Parts: sequence; structure tokens; C-alpha cells
Amino acid sequence: MYWYVHDFTMHVLPFSCVSTKKRIAIIPGDGIGQEVIPQAVKVIEASGAAVQMTQFDWSAERYLADGMTIPSDGFTILGRDFDAILVGAFGDPRVPSNIHAKEILLGMRFKMDLYANVRPVRLLDAGLCPLKGVETKDIDFVVIRENTEGVYVDVGGVFKQGTPDEIAVQEDVNTRKGVERIIRYAFEYCKRNKKLDGSPRHRVLMTDKANVMTYAHGLWQRVFKEVSREYPEITAEHMYVDALCMQMVRDPRQFDVVVTNNMFGDIITDLAAGLQGGLGMAASGNIHPGKTSMFEPVHGSAPTIAGKNLANPFGAILTAAMMLNHLGLTREAEKIEAAVLQAVRQKKTTQDIGGTLGTSDVGAWVAGQVK
Ligand code: ATP
Repeated sequence: MYWYVHDFTMHVLPFSCVSTKKRIAIIPGDGIGQEVIPQAVKVIEASGAAVQMTQFDWSAERYLADGMTIPSDGFTILGRDFDAILVGAFGDPRVPSNIHAKEILLGMRFKMDLYANVRPVRLLDAGLCPLKGVETKDIDFVVIRENTEGVYVDVGGVFKQGTPDEIAVQEDVNTRKGVERIIRYAFEYCKRNKKLDGSPRHRVLMTDKANVMTYAHGLWQRVFKEVSREYPEITAEHMYVDALCMQMVRDPRQFDVVVTNNMFGDIITDLAAGLQGGLGMAASGNIHPGKTSMFEPVHGSAPTIAGKNLANPFGAILTAAMMLNHLGLTREAEKIEAAVLQAVRQKKTTQDIGGTLGTSDVGAWVAGQVK
């Protein structure tokens, strides 16, 4: 583990000395990010993965200390000098504007164009699911969320603020290019990835609210129809997002690959995390194929439990495994996933999922298993 130094000596090494290790930027961020990311790092180190990790202190703490959110060349450094980025979470009650989170996290997603937010939904143990009669094999789907458009682009404003005539407008931005590439990503994901039991994936379902948002989601409908024709071996399905929420709780077995816009993806993956045992269990990747991609647990900084050694580190550890897999370090990723499964089965877990251990003990147990 190296701490951040600005002059990266690796650029001046002669070719014969250039390391083949994958270079990972580690940004723990705020709140429980500061607790769960060190566990993920410990587990990566224990796995023996050929990586070189460099830690950055970009966070609320840093912002409060010197006003910096991310250096002006921060995104260039990340994209140029690293193969992947592992992030904890951003958000701190001492920064009510959340400016640092917007500039760092949304900055990475937008400026590095990480358009595919991939959120696997897997049930590791039936006891973790609040639904009756559900087995582990019943929940194994993935949500592919568009990550660079929608209402997150911050287009809009308020007019006559503070008066009875106030108007607030926030635009939902959907481009042909953005919609097409995320839908195609979902079909490609379906084609190339298997379920946990080794069976192929074969269905892509798009969810939207095209019955109300006729213009914006009408575009999604047209593009989905077009792109799905290129994949005759994959079944293309559709469900309105309100119906999907109900179906996810009634019968999650029916889902395979779900593709949706930025906001619906955000919302339905919290619901999906509930099926997996809570926010502490959910992993995610922010991906642009061929470019430096960023991996982060689905949960936020959870200020109410931060600093108490209560946070569940599995979301962060499974996120690290997802990142290693993405980098081609599949053997190490499998070892880590197997160790988390063992920890869940043996109740070596934090309290949120029924265990008695603290965050760091869980991390140490998993690291011990993968060694
Ligand atoms: P954001 O707006 O960044 O998504 P949020 O406040 O909506 O953040 P989280 O920070 O993810 O949501 O947390 C919501 C609640 O979920 C927390 O207060 C905590 O009770 C629980 N939680 C989230 N992550 C974890 C975790 N890793 N371990 C245990 N509990 C967690």
C-alpha cells in the first residue's frame, strides 16, 4: 500500500522494470467508507493478487481541512495512471452541500464517462432474505443502471424562489447515444456472463415509466426494440418500474438482466439490496469498457453507524472481488467470494445480518480464509 505522491515514478522506469501489477487507486472517502475499504484492502492483499494500491485522501475531512475536493488533474491521474479505482462512500453531515461528494463521485462517473453501473443481486444465504420460501438460487440477477444521464446531470433551476409562485424544474436528460450504449451493454452482459450456478443468462428486461414519460422513455422503448433485434438468442422483456417493484418482492426468481435509467436504477437497487440482506451486502461497478473503471459498494457513508466498528464490510469486499474479476484476476476474485460465502454460512458477520463481530474482525476473518 502506498500513500498518494504526485510524481509517479513508474512513468520513468525503463521498459524492463515496468511492473505487470494492476494499479489500483483506493479512495475510502467518508463515514463507513473509512472502515469498510481497509477491510477490502486487507482481503485483496491476503488473496495474493498482483496489484499495487495507492491511497488517496479525497474526502469530507480533506475538504474541511483545506477546501480541496479533488485536484484539478485528479480525473486525468486516475484515468492515466490506474487500471481501476476502489471507492468507499461519500457524504458527511459536516458538509451539508455535499459538494465534495458531487465533485468526486459524480465527477468520476461523468468526467470519466463510466456509463454502466453494474449491480449484481445475489443471495448468499436464504436466511438473509426477508422473503418467505426463497432459496439462494432464486435470487441471482443483475441491474445495469445508466450512470451518466437522467436527472443526475443537474440541468434545471428554480424561479421566483421563496415566493408562493415558485417554480422548480429538473430535466431528465436522455440522449440517443447514452440510451443505446447502455441497452447494448445489457445485452452484451447477458451474452457473456453466467449465473452463479453456471447456467447461461438469456433474458434482458428493460424497466421504465414510458406510459407517463412518453418522450424520454419513448426513446428508451424505440432503442430497446432496435437493439434487441441484434440479439435474437436473448429474450427481450419490458415492465413498468412500479410493477417491477411489486414483482421484485413477490417473485424475484423471474429476473435475469434488468436495464434501466439512472434514477430508477438507484431506487430499485436499494430494494434489491433488501433482498440480499441489506445495503451492507451489495456490490457495484461503474464501468466504461476499455477505460479505467471505478468500483464501490452500493451503500452510502451511513453517518449514524460510522466510527463504531458496526459497518458490514461484505459489500466492499465483494466489490473488490468484482474489481479483480474485471481486471482479469479471476482466481483471486473467486477465492474472495468463496470466503465471504463461508463467513455468511458460519455467521462470522456484523450485527446487521445476525452476527456478533465488528467490521475489522469480519475483515480479518475473511482475509484469513483467502490466504
Ligand atoms: P446515500 O445517500 O449515500 O445513498 P443513505 O444515507 O441514503 O446514503 P446509506 O448511507 O447507504 O444510505 O445507509 C442507510 C442505512 O443503511 C444506514 O444508516 C445503516 O443503517 C444501513 N447501512 C448502510 N450500509 C451499511 C453497512 N455497510 N453495514 C451496516 N448497515 C449499513
